[in-house]
Amino acid sequence: MRVFVASLATETNTFSPVPTDLDNFKEAFYAAPGDHPDTPTLCSATHIICRERIPALGWTLIEGTATWAEPGGLINRQTYEHLRDEILAQISAALPLDGIVLGLHGAMVAQGYDDCEGDFLSRIREIVGDKVVICAELDPHSHLTPLRVKHANALIAFKEFPHTDFVERAREVVEITIASIKGEIVPKISVFDCKMIEILPTSREPMRSFIDKIQRMEQQDNILSISVIHGFMAGDVPEMGTKLMVITDDQQDFGDDLAYRLGMELFSFRGNTRPPYLSPDLGLKEALEINDGPVVVADIWDNPGGGVAGDSTILLKKLLQLKQSNVAIGTIWDPIAVKFCIAAGEDSSIQLRFGGKCCASAGGPVDAFIKVKKVVRKAVQSFGASVVPLGDAVCIEIAGIDVILNSNRCQAFSPDLFSNLGIDPLQKQLLVVKSTNHFYGAFSKISKNIIYIDCGAPYPSNPITNNYKKLKRPIWPIVEDPHRLECSAMEVIHEKPVSGDAQHG
Ligand SMILES: [Zn+2]
Repeated sequence: MRVFVASLATETNTFSPVPTDLDNFKEAFYAAPGDHPDTPTLCSATHIICRERIPALGWTLIEGTATWAEPGGLINRQTYEHLRDEILAQISAALPLDGIVLGLHGAMVAQGYDDCEGDFLSRIREIVGDKVVICAELDPHSHLTPLRVKHANALIAFKEFPHTDFVERAREVVEITIASIKGEIVPKISVFDCKMIEILPTSREPMRSFIDKIQRMEQQDNILSISVIHGFMAGDVPEMGTKLMVITDDQQDFGDDLAYRLGMELFSFRGNTRPPYLSPDLGLKEALEINDGPVVVADIWDNPGGGVAGDSTILLKKLLQLKQSNVAIGTIWDPIAVKFCIAAGEDSSIQLRFGGKCCASAGGPVDAFIKVKKVVRKAVQSFGASVVPLGDAVCIEIAGIDVILNSNRCQAFSPDLFSNLGIDPLQKQLLVVKSTNHFYGAFSKISKNIIYIDCGAPYPSNPITNNYKKLKRPIWPIVEDPHRLECSAMEVIHEKPVSGDAQHG
């Protein structure tokens, strides 16, 4: 038997001002066939599991390209077509094949392609025909389109958010591929459209118990896999939204019914799944009243992990107004300002414009006389066992506040982000981090006090005001009860009052 594995992934925020091109893939992660490192990445763990399992069966594994770009704006058309065609050519050259395992993300959008993964899977199917087993791993922050379901034998998403289970799910994808090739199972995919979009962290209720429950259900012989597709609200595509996917062993009707029942249960959680998000004024007030520092303040919607630039100055400007000084901010992305600071040198003081440059809603630039306190070339931070590059970075001081400027877009993962730039995080009253959820693991170890602040921008965090052009299906919270609506016209929807917004967070 012959199995091919490849990975092509990124998460596209179609509202982001930061376009994505080939350089973004090559800079973030690019492994030519055979060059994949021994450690798995979020979207290419299938590579590692295939190496472990396929040769052990006496089968042949053919490795293709694996590549990933930091989440950003729309991918340019030539970049997507280039990477897609590179892998399609590898598949054609590898024929005959019995199975194909893919590491995808599922929220990739390119110029002219609202459904990159659907396009990719359908072209693979065209090359290999109906008999070859095609299975893929997905990030739950993805769009589940009928085209993908049509051309894949099985799709499995990470269950946890934060995504701590990507290796376990990769293992399931590979085992289902193997069992399907052997003819031991016949996967049938059932999908229910929950007609909603929501933030669904699994580290808290009600999602924690829901995920535990579906994992218990997967112990039944006839249920091969259950995935919650959270959806990705920053992707304006027709199929954006939460979906419930069940894969049974050849029991389509049973799977359809289960997907419906679990999907409606998930729908009932809407509006009650997030931690409390505070306004900037209230959040900073609460943070400053806590004596037991450091207090971690998360600027949740300026998270480059969601595809935004990561250069918002909104909280910095508020802190300057409040005349707070025992504060460190990590990070503001500004490669030009970093260059200026490096040129000026450590201990220099210069007039600098930084941050707020990439879009109108990120607070605008700050103009100030600042001190360059520290310069670090190729700075890094840790994220679990992995090392995340910040690019060249500097620590500047503005009115007593330490601000890290970096040149590689990335969210805050760990307190060594600060210590690597010469800041002792334990000595600060406030640590401001740009991250929605992934920072929590490492920062909760140095602080009991974590405050989530919703600045309302630049991430398109409110579906009601996001002004989607391609999303035409009625979904909550744009529509109060989409499952009862006969009429799907968005004009009708927009006439409805949106007074429920506050309670839905
Ligand atoms: Zn995700």
